[in-house]
Amino acid sequence: MKKDIRVYTYEQLHREMEIQGEKAFRAKQIYEWLHVKLADSFSEMTNLSKELRSQLEASWQIAPVSMLECQESRLDGTRKFLFRLGDGNVVESVLMPYKHGNSVCISSQVGCRMGCRFCASTIGGLERNLTASEMLGQVYQIQKQSGERVSNVVVMGTGEPLDNYENLLVFLQILTGEHGLHISQRNVTISTCGIIPKMYELAKEHLQITLAISLHGATQEKRAQLMPIANQYKLSDLLIACDDYFRETGRRITFEYSLVHGINDTEKDAEALIFVLKERNCHLNLIPVNPIKERNFQKPDRKIAQNFKNKLEKSGINVTIRREMGADIDGACGQLRRSYVQNGGGKA
Ligand code: SAH
Repeated sequence: MKKDIRVYTYEQLHREMEIQGEKAFRAKQIYEWLHVKLADSFSEMTNLSKELRSQLEASWQIAPVSMLECQESRLDGTRKFLFRLGDGNVVESVLMPYKHGNSVCISSQVGCRMGCRFCASTIGGLERNLTASEMLGQVYQIQKQSGERVSNVVVMGTGEPLDNYENLLVFLQILTGEHGLHISQRNVTISTCGIIPKMYELAKEHLQITLAISLHGATQEKRAQLMPIANQYKLSDLLIACDDYFRETGRRITFEYSLVHGINDTEKDAEALIFVLKERNCHLNLIPVNPIKERNFQKPDRKIAQNFKNKLEKSGINVTIRREMGADIDGACGQLRRSYVQNGGGKA
């Protein structure tokens, strides 16, 4: 199989073109076609000679990420995209228009092996990792389709980004690099269920990205009830790793807490959460759970969620309830892909 040219960093592409005997400015042009003009094919690269274009075509590929479906929410303009990859797998991504700019949520894997109980993405298990090129492709396609600049990227779609660590780092480098879309690191968020060794590695990169931790339970027992990964990595160790990340990068951690009615939304749960977060410089995002049909989890009603938030706020915790986006279009993580696959499209 031909190598994918879109996974090369700016410096690597220069080196590669030098090996091929090409002039340095050719590498610059190709990189610009790929990562600024967002070309999907070599034939678009019209300022390159025909010979060079066919030479590139013969040696390289650009991983296809092609739009299959786009659903737009009538409530808030959120758009959900389904993309087909070169091997027939499908992934989903979301565009959320905010006042401060367009935010794109991308997938990092086809499926997921983390097994969180309320999450639709994990039900069929992990199919494979996405390459850096396939992660970039989601952002690039959405920017092209919408015709508007993407200013924020969150890696919160299907998959566990720290379970695909090497590709994630390449993706981040190209996405935020000055020769590509140059999205500010501060506008990029990576969400993890808490793969502790990788959190330490990421901290050492000293990136200015935001790390979001899926907490969902404020005691070891509660967390393990919802997230199997908690059996492997204990809550106490996770919190130490979070503190390390903050110390190394100066970036405040965001904690995500899906409110599941009757499971983690009681007064006692709020108190346990206060105990965990009160000495930490962090942000807490409460997400009323998005029910999926395979599981019997329900979201708390508005009042319970609001009381939960108020209690935390009174204790000085910086907390928001996440605004529900695109509730009318297969809202929860992985639901759109799942319904597509179940209806006989793509590969399971
Ligand atoms: N694997 C990563 C990122 C993917 S999920 C992680 O675990 O963080 C992004 C966030 O959405 C996580 O906090 C996840 O727990 C949450 N999530 C998944 N399914 C959900 C659902 N049905 N309702 C509410 N939150 C959900």
